[in-house]
Amino acid sequence: MKVGFIGLGNMGNPMATNLLNAGHDLVVHDLRQESATNLLEMGASWANTPKEVVPGRDVVFTSLPVPRDVEAVVLGENGILEGASSETVYMDLSTNSPTAIRRIHDMCAEKGVTVMDAPVSGGTYGAAAATLAVMVGGDRSVYDRMKPTLDAIGSHVVYCGPIGNGMVCKICNNLLSMGIGVLMTEALTMGVKAGVDLATLADVIANSTGGNKRLTDKFPRFLFKGNFEPGFATALAAKDVRLATDLGREYGIPMELSNLVDQRHVEAIFRGWGPEDSDAVSKIQEEKAGVQLRLLD
Ligand code: NAD
Repeated sequence: MKVGFIGLGNMGNPMATNLLNAGHDLVVHDLRQESATNLLEMGASWANTPKEVVPGRDVVFTSLPVPRDVEAVVLGENGILEGASSETVYMDLSTNSPTAIRRIHDMCAEKGVTVMDAPVSGGTYGAAAATLAVMVGGDRSVYDRMKPTLDAIGSHVVYCGPIGNGMVCKICNNLLSMGIGVLMTEALTMGVKAGVDLATLADVIANSTGGNKRLTDKFPRFLFKGNFEPGFATALAAKDVRLATDLGREYGIPMELSNLVDQRHVEAIFRGWGPEDSDAVSKIQEEKAGVQLRLLD
């Protein structure tokens, strides 16, 4: 397939790499051309603007930080919409607001352009290994056509329903992941202070009803190593929790605990940890408890 890819960061770059490895023809763009170096060496072509990415592409993907970036890249000057036609399929792989992508969908539909949402989960390691979960919203027949392409970036590609439903699934997931991170840090600092070593605690919980992927996949790569290189930046995690609390407000859903999780992430941003990996949020509880959760080899 002829694929366009905009946003070649921690997630976008490995996903674009896997699309090239699967034999797709790629045109790429990012604000930082250096982020495309490895892809250009592998045979991808460079476009100077999102608009220039679009002509002749069967599908254009974006993987961008926050909703306003997606809006700028799609609807802004020299954006995707300016270069698009009724042949264009545009899919947003970012974690974005369902309401924002539904609005973009409706604006693009006026020009006959198809918009789908396809946020992903599984971290940078899942992106590199092509084992992401991909949550797709939009037209079912377009999903069926695009499924083989999405299989190149993920091992669990799911049709979630109409436009925006992929984002809803992703936001529910990330709210849980971030909330579990905060609660787990409280439990683990308590357990260590009460006398059990971290390796024993982590092993027991991973094999009991409190077990979860954040404990078995994420903490061992980041928090337990004291490694706060992103990964998944705290600023993006804070954005995702806020997308959830905003969605709760929009739909009149009470979310008391989620708003505490939100404020914990706000505190981490104020500490200056926005660019660090999202496990940096745990450092607040570590400080308060006087316990560091580290498993050194
Ligand atoms: P990142 O900051 O590493 O990469 C974003 C890229 O977009 C950067 O290369 C940046 O230069 C580029 N960019 C920003 N604005 C642009 C613009 N206007 N035009 C062109 N390029 C632009 O972010 P990431 O970690 O790769 O995350 C991307 C998206 O995926 C986010 O929505 C994030 O929430 C989501 N996500 C991240 C992870 C993760 O583990 N990092 C996992 C799942 C989902």
